Amino acid sequence: MKSPDTLQRFLFEDNAIRGELVHLDTSFKAIRDHHAYPAPVRSLLGQALAASALLSASIKSHDSLILQSRGSGPVHLVVAQCTSDRSLRGLARWSEPVVTGSLRDLCGQGHMAITIDPGRGRERYQGMVEMSGHTLADALEAYFAQSEQLATRLWLACDGHVAAGMLLQRLPGEAVDSDAWERVNHLAATITDMELLQLSVQEVRHRLFHQEDVRIFEAERTTFRCTCARDTIEAVLRSLGRREVKDLLAKDGEIAVTCEFCNHRYRFDPVDVERLLRDHAPATAPTTHQ
Ligand SMILES: [Zn+2]
Repeated sequence: MKSPDTLQRFLFEDNAIRGELVHLDTSFKAIRDHHAYPAPVRSLLGQALAASALLSASIKSHDSLILQSRGSGPVHLVVAQCTSDRSLRGLARWSEPVVTGSLRDLCGQGHMAITIDPGRGRERYQGMVEMSGHTLADALEAYFAQSEQLATRLWLACDGHVAAGMLLQRLPGEAVDSDAWERVNHLAATITDMELLQLSVQEVRHRLFHQEDVRIFEAERTTFRCTCARDTIEAVLRSLGRREVKDLLAKDGEIAVTCEFCNHRYRFDPVDVERLLRDHAPATAPTTHQ
């Protein structure tokens, strides 16, 4: 049986191929419980979260990776974020009716963006891909193919309760053995959604890759954690300008902002509002950033 809430790396020793296997249980529950998601939306969000963990694990140095889809379909928006310490958060926005279908049926026409925040004040970078293919895994594989990154394959599954995923990727800078890559992919493609959701990395190795030399690394824990903070909300309020903030305050006598990722409610009474507007009075001349 799989270990719940783990991300685990494995390596095909002789073939310069790495793998990652992720299972999200309580971390996914904590995320999906914040909204009453219809089943197809919950499944897509679970797959997006699993994918964000797998992609984050395949990048060396970064603070976080964000996967975001925006489309014209009933599921307008999906956001999944995984940090380098494997904490996850995510949400989806939808309008009824949502019925089970392909990625295109759910999200419609649109794009998927993969944003990497390298941290330490360095500039974020973003890759985009059109939402195509039957599944989220198809669209992400198209992204890797299009952006000429390392050859990468993905398998994603979610039954509404557990989300799981597997990634295979050629290692950079190693001699390419196309036969081995094809063979390993061919074996991996026989995995069913049920197996992906239930099997441990040892069982996956036994079931799929028993003839390969596969080394398994220590598991990392995945958790739910929201990175929202009062400071960030204050900055957003300040960016609205004094007048707008005062109008908001006048409406209800306080300003309440709810984080959509964790449902935490931040309240600002008239004293808070005065302080936040005073502490950061705008400069007399606006600064232009080129
Ligand atoms: Zn939050």
